[in-house]
Amino acid sequence: MTARQTIGTIRRDGRGDPFFDGAAEDRLMTRRCEACGRWYAPDATDCPECAGELAWAEASGEAALVSWAVAHSRTGETAPLALVELAEGPWMYGRLDAVAAPREGLPLRASFVHPDEGESYPVFKERRENRGL
Ligand SMILES: [Zn+2]
Repeated sequence: MTARQTIGTIRRDGRGDPFFDGAAEDRLMTRRCEACGRWYAPDATDCPECAGELAWAEASGEAALVSWAVAHSRTGETAPLALVELAEGPWMYGRLDAVAAPREGLPLRASFVHPDEGESYPVFKERRENRGL
């Protein structure tokens, strides 16, 4: 799985501007409750625990692989799509990049793709333990 993943050009729809603005600056933005501090996925709308307001917050980018599938495009390209658990707790969908042997719990780190066309977006790469960062 080392080929460049090029399925779809990502366009923002207005709801996730801080997510894409963050991705453009290599920052993984997600949602956090202002009242109780719990973390949520980028598409969450309110806090089910305390009904507090969610604000945008920068996550560490560290995650663990939960589940994955390979998507196929009409042109024959493939892209591994993953459900990951962020270090802060929430689960979110993303793409895998250069993960040769996916397995549940695989440590991942967000990295960012800045295509010529469309929005920047995060991909998750295998995180090597004990090698800095
Ligand atoms: Zn809350």
